[in-house]
Amino acid sequence: MNDRLPILDIWVDPVSREEALQRVRDFLKHGDRPHAIFAANPEKEFSVPADPELYQCYRDAALLLPDGIGVVLAARLLHGVRLHRLPGSEFLFDICQLAEAEGHAIFVFGAKEEVNSRSVAQLQRHYPGLRIAGRANGYVPDEEMALLIERINESKAAILFLALGSPRQEKWFAAHRGMLSTVRVVQGVGGTLDTIGGNVRRAPEFWCRHNLEWLYRLTKEPKRVKRQKVLPLFALRILKQWLSMKATRVVNRF
Ligand code: UDP
Repeated sequence: MNDRLPILDIWVDPVSREEALQRVRDFLKHGDRPHAIFAANPEKEFSVPADPELYQCYRDAALLLPDGIGVVLAARLLHGVRLHRLPGSEFLFDICQLAEAEGHAIFVFGAKEEVNSRSVAQLQRHYPGLRIAGRANGYVPDEEMALLIERINESKAAILFLALGSPRQEKWFAAHRGMLSTVRVVQGVGGTLDTIGGNVRRAPEFWCRHNLEWLYRLTKEPKRVKRQKVLPLFALRILKQWLSMKATRVVNRF
């Protein structure tokens, strides 16, 4: 993607919700291979460059969503590009709506058995016309993976939601993409099924509207503090890069 924006050590695709959906349509229509959709957010700024295999998965992804407000602000500051947040956890619903309207079958792989089956039931309730061609929990032993791939292929699903958490889902995709015969779109949705069919609540609208979903989650799951400590570090690195860009511009003027 040549319009992909670099944000520190990873990238983001500067797409609106509608443009992202159009890309999904294109992947479904013209693609002869699975296309990966992953999320770009401050957490990934640290985990992706630290893991060469994960870095390769991000480099090869077909679409990197502006998943977090941090990435949106960074795009504005570093590139002067106005983006809107497009969380992967919401984009899953957009894809389901598109799949229902345009007749594409989905397969849902990941999370604990009861979370997976409840999520699938919820999605079916939300989108009665959606073809859910199959589902599997995310704890399939390695020796049964070939069988699972066979099930996915036989289901003829065009869209696969991978809910194995990061980096497991990205690495699963890298290892198995060549074996998927009908799937054209794979979205890594992390822990999203836990918010659909599990006990994890998404932040109420007020928190989302004010870009404070991260703070809400922190109050509900204080052990996330370990993961969210990257936020101030990310802000600092962005500020440093912005200052050095400004300094370079001043020097170039003389
Ligand atoms: N998970 C899974 N298989 C595994 C390990 C984890 O399906 O072998 C699921 C787990 O049940 C949870 C999700 O992956 O639903 C991880 O959620 P988390 O919030 O940690 O992921 P993130 O959104 O941060 O990538």
